[in-house]
Amino acid sequence: MDFSPSPRTAAFVAAAREFVAREVVPLERSFFGRDWASLEPELRALRDKARATGLFAPHMPRELGGAGLSLTELAAVGEELGQSPLGHYAFNCQAPDAGNMELLLLHATDQQREKWLLPLVRGEIRSCFSMTEPERPGSNPTWLDTRAVRDGGDWVIDGHKWFTSSAEGAAFAIVMAVTRPDAPPHLRASQIIVPVGTPGFSLVRNIPVMGHVGSGWASHAEVRYEKCRVPAANLIGPEGMGFALAQERLGPGRIQHCMRWIGICERSFDLMCRYAVAREVAPGKPLGTRQMVQGWIAESRAEIDAARLMVLHAAWVMEKDGAHEARDHISAIKFFVANVLQRVVDRAVQAHGGLGVTDDTPLAFFYRAERSARIYDGADEVHKASLARRILRRYGLEGA
Ligand SMILES: Cc1cc2nc3c(=O)[nH]c(=O)nc-3n(C[C@H](O)[C@H](O)[C@H](O)COP(=O)(O)OP(=O)(O)OC[C@H]3O[C@@H](n4cnc5c(N)ncnc54)[C@H](O)[C@@H]3O)c2cc1C
Repeated sequence: MDFSPSPRTAAFVAAAREFVAREVVPLERSFFGRDWASLEPELRALRDKARATGLFAPHMPRELGGAGLSLTELAAVGEELGQSPLGHYAFNCQAPDAGNMELLLLHATDQQREKWLLPLVRGEIRSCFSMTEPERPGSNPTWLDTRAVRDGGDWVIDGHKWFTSSAEGAAFAIVMAVTRPDAPPHLRASQIIVPVGTPGFSLVRNIPVMGHVGSGWASHAEVRYEKCRVPAANLIGPEGMGFALAQERLGPGRIQHCMRWIGICERSFDLMCRYAVAREVAPGKPLGTRQMVQGWIAESRAEIDAARLMVLHAAWVMEKDGAHEARDHISAIKFFVANVLQRVVDRAVQAHGGLGVTDDTPLAFFYRAERSARIYDGADEVHKASLARRILRRYGLEGA
């Protein structure tokens, strides 16, 4: 078995690593301290430089203006971009736009492709994904209250959503709404494009998360749809297939999230090791001479390496055999890597003492922003339960 990356992957990784260190990391302090709108001119300039690397929109095909990376190449590059909170944004492969682009690539009509997908790939607009509702369990996306009713040539949408990430400043939302209430649960909902600003679309508030209300791309909105009328042509894919499309959207997305988290782990690990060498706890006695700190470093190293191998393997299975065959791997990496992430970031914060909870390093941002990793894209417990059920079915357990 050969673990060395291909020369092509190695070149992409080196370019991404160098770019993140040179161009993205210096912007972090501004990101932690400033409003998104005030940062946008600098971010536009950052994206112009990122375009010049040839890696812009790495997940999209070349004919649409992307870099055309395979899933395993994307995974390797994603780790490098994940080292900074703005890495994926710089290259226009940030959530939720990356998933929306992948969805539209597969299912958009020609008209939807022109109007929404191409400007998204070029980085001219942003988007959001509006599925979760405050009144219903996000863990069971077959149970939604939001309705879309056909009225002549339009859909009329009524519903209440929250955690519609990045809605502020987005050009459109992809909304999950029930269009066939009498169909079996998995065939009730559809996905519909709603341009932000359509009468009846209202952004109620950006929800404070861990004490931070956020803004622009870095925010999570509560949204109401009230008699929100959009053309019937805004339906994505066949009616009633919203759940299947959402699952399809999440498959590669989970690989991308996991590799981003491994990037965060590596950055946190690097900061922890540097600090362990530099910080003296007594004259001539750096923190790294203490066994407890050595334990954190050794455990983190082993866990990050295990996580990376699992994710790259899952990406390889998905690329080779498809998302269905990769289901067990995807469930396993989703909860495994999210927990490695939390342990590694927590140890790095602890190693930094008071400095670790300030915004003078990115650790505090990682700590508060990524607690959600165990919740979004399927809570840990949901992935564990579905993985275990599939395994037990193979052992003959009925009704698992
Ligand atoms: C930062 C962040 C960003 C998000 N971005 C988006 C977005 O852009 N668009 C969007 O539509 N949604 C988004 N979400 C919502 C996210 O998808 C949901 O929060 C998630 O699916 C869980 O749903 P819930 O919050 O309703 O929790 P619930 O479904 O109510 O579950 C609560 C808890 O119960 C437990 N649980 C649930 N089901 C089971 C089970 N079967 N067995 C055992 N335990 C279980 C889990 O521990 C879970 O955390 C985001 C969430 C966060 C935190």
